[in-house]
Amino acid sequence: MRTEVMDALEHLPHTLSQALKPIITTPGFDATLSKAEFEQLMKESQLTDAALRIELLKVAAAYSIATLSNFHVGAIARGNSGRLYFGANMEFSATSMSQTVHAEQAAISHAWLKGETGIRDITVNYSPCGHCRQFMNELTTAKTIMVQLPERSPKALQDYLPESFGPSDLGITDFLLSDSSHELTFETDDALLQEACNAARKSHAPYSKNYAGVALKAKDGRVFSGMYAENAAFNPSLPPLQVALIHMNMTGYPLSDIVEAALVEQKDSAISLLADTQNTLETFNPDMPLSYAAI
Ligand SMILES: [Zn+2]
Repeated sequence: MRTEVMDALEHLPHTLSQALKPIITTPGFDATLSKAEFEQLMKESQLTDAALRIELLKVAAAYSIATLSNFHVGAIARGNSGRLYFGANMEFSATSMSQTVHAEQAAISHAWLKGETGIRDITVNYSPCGHCRQFMNELTTAKTIMVQLPERSPKALQDYLPESFGPSDLGITDFLLSDSSHELTFETDDALLQEACNAARKSHAPYSKNYAGVALKAKDGRVFSGMYAENAAFNPSLPPLQVALIHMNMTGYPLSDIVEAALVEQKDSAISLLADTQNTLETFNPDMPLSYAAI
């Protein structure tokens, strides 16, 4: 467990801190709270649903890796199942700023990685930037998702993004987090490439059709995968490496633990994620082994 997360516990109201500590310190805590756990925390802390989520942002923000800005953003996405998923911003030195992950993207991808097919609401400690408003407008629940900020009434995403541009404007009917799987044929003996391919099957890439996935192996052998999340406005797209890094960070692994990586993408696509993936991985280790397959 990161020391920042344990420190955040100390900054919560006492009753909440006491109730949350056994959950967070249970081995295998994965930065999510079940609906039942959340309801129990509400009961024990005597906080309202929104007030509890706002307090919990301190814990979410403790996962932030704000190498450049030192600005710690936390977000909590509640999936359609009622489970809550923590997320935080991630910045990377020695590469371009376009590789940055925003907290909202992290919380939403976290929910996606764990099988959610829609986000009911998102709680953030700062007003969502334009990039994140656009990212969220790609969701299956873009028309209904509510945004909760500290000291604000909840508002719909569409109130934060009037006259929005989204997938429908490009004739796309497949939204981010939809429960779909692409049929990709790929046979390999390389387990890491196979994991990357499995992630690619779940990717959201209706614009380029570059169904892509990344798998990262940590030094203890654990594997973290991520799938590509494209966006109608292109630039807010989240590359599969970033989703895998979110997966690893929210599991409590330092990114310096990566020892090997794999990328699978489509050979007939007009775009490629290879150069960006290599560049960002090299910030962790200039000699990072990267297996690659265009299928
Ligand atoms: Zn943002």
